[in-house]
This record gives sequence, structure tokens and C-alpha cells, in this order.
Amino acid sequence: MPLVSMNEFLPQAKAGKYAVGQFNMNNLEFAQAIAQAAKELNSPFIFGVSEGALKYMGIEYTVALAEAAAKQTGLPIALHLDHGSNFDVAMKCIRAGFSSVMFDGSHHSFEDNIRLTKEIVKVAHAMGVSVEGELGTIGGTEDDLSVDEENASLAKPAEAIRFYEETGVDALAIAVGTAHGMYAGEPHIHYNIIEEVAAAMPISIVLHGGSGVPDDMIKNAIKAGATKINVNTENQVAATAAIREVLGKDAKVYDPRKYLTPARNAMVEVVKGKIELFGSVGKA
Ligand SMILES: [Zn+2]
Repeated sequence: MPLVSMNEFLPQAKAGKYAVGQFNMNNLEFAQAIAQAAKELNSPFIFGVSEGALKYMGIEYTVALAEAAAKQTGLPIALHLDHGSNFDVAMKCIRAGFSSVMFDGSHHSFEDNIRLTKEIVKVAHAMGVSVEGELGTIGGTEDDLSVDEENASLAKPAEAIRFYEETGVDALAIAVGTAHGMYAGEPHIHYNIIEEVAAAMPISIVLHGGSGVPDDMIKNAIKAGATKINVNTENQVAATAAIREVLGKDAKVYDPRKYLTPARNAMVEVVKGKIELFGSVGKA
């Protein structure tokens, strides 16, 4: 199966009140682990690729890995640019074979965010590529992107509705209290914002910073209307812990397969757990 836009599965998630996971890809083992977990549970999913990961893997390898996963599993998989910062990078990804892009204009003024997002939507839709926008600022650190918790501002429902109507995005990330990276304490999720925005528009509401959010809070966010949830840090933590364990036990290990295999297995378990939690088992 070729890579598909998020519109191939997010409307079903909205109708069925479950969420589809975005799992970020950072290398071959991430791609394999995510694809294997989704295949075992017959779930659609989204490969998220940040600009930092894109720089690390190279755009050709990134697209090739995602296409190989789609071909090998037969699952509906979207290859999605995560937190794209400008028009050019979005176009570069679409040209290279991405089936979905996010434009994060949340650091711009509200009016500029609308204007810039709209430009990308126009081109992306002409190419059959889905677009995610962002409103409000999500705290924490992802790649070079860092937002102080106190500067993170929640999305305003009235603005979200206008943003959707004017831009025509297919999915909307709204800041509701989650953060990128791991949490020091428990996050405080504003379910009422998710509920109000999700009820006011037909598109998917996206929860960023899904790593480390307690399961019951994720369930409540889905109940409130979140239908796409992003996970990256938990896979990174699980993979690194597995590698550290192998290397810490035996200083003579030099074959990367000896520590990357347990890292990959650890990520399979993380992703399977999330797919079950999100309710997308058997929805491919
Ligand atoms: Zn994010």
C-alpha cells in the first residue's frame, strides 16, 4: 500500500471516538518497531518526522523507510512532517513523498498563522496531502524548539474555530496543557477546551506531548474528542534504557545489533501499549 494522507483514517477515528497515534521516527529501528507494533494490532498510524530528525536521517532515507513500512505491512500509514517551520520545508517534504505535513505557525501572530497555514493548505490539498495546524503554544522541548512552561499559552476555542474555517486544515493541534518531552509532575489537561473545539468542527483535534501522560488522562482526552495523539519521548526513553542496560552489563559488546535489537523490542512494546490505549486496534 502506498503512503496515505491522514484523511484516509482520521475521519473514521472521529466518528468512532478513538485516536490514531503519531509515532515519531528517528532511525531505522524506530521505523521497524512502530510498523511491527501496528502490524501486530492491525492499526493505522502516522510516522511523525521533525525537522531535526529529517536532518539526521536525510529526506531520501526518511521517505524510503516509510514507504518500505507501508509496503511491508499493507497498513494505511501517513508520513507526516512534525512542526514544519515554514513553507519551503513543507514543499520539500511534499515533493519528496510525504503524505501529510504540519505547519506550526503558533509562534506567529494569529493573523499571520492563518495566512501562512492557508498558503500551505492550498498547495498540499492540490497534491492530496493532509495538513495539521497549531494554535496556542505547547510547552517543553522538542528538537531545537523550546517553550518555557510559563510562556505556553492555551488555545482559545473561538480562535480555533475561526482558524479552521479560514485555513481548511485537516487536523488541528491545540495547546491544552500537555508538553513536549517528559513531565516533571503530572500534566494538567484542559479537557473542556478539547471538548468545545472538537464539537465545533468536523476535523481531528491533535494532542501533542502524549509521552508520560497517565493512561486515564489520555482516555479522558479521547473522550473529550482528541483523535490524533503524538508520542516520541517514551520511545526514545525505552530505546535508550535498553541500550544502556546491555552496554552497562557488558563492556565488551561492540556489535550494534546486540543493543539495537533490545532497543527495538522495547519500542514495539511501548507502541503496542499506546495503540491499545488509543483504541485503534483493528482499525486499519
Ligand atoms: Zn509536538
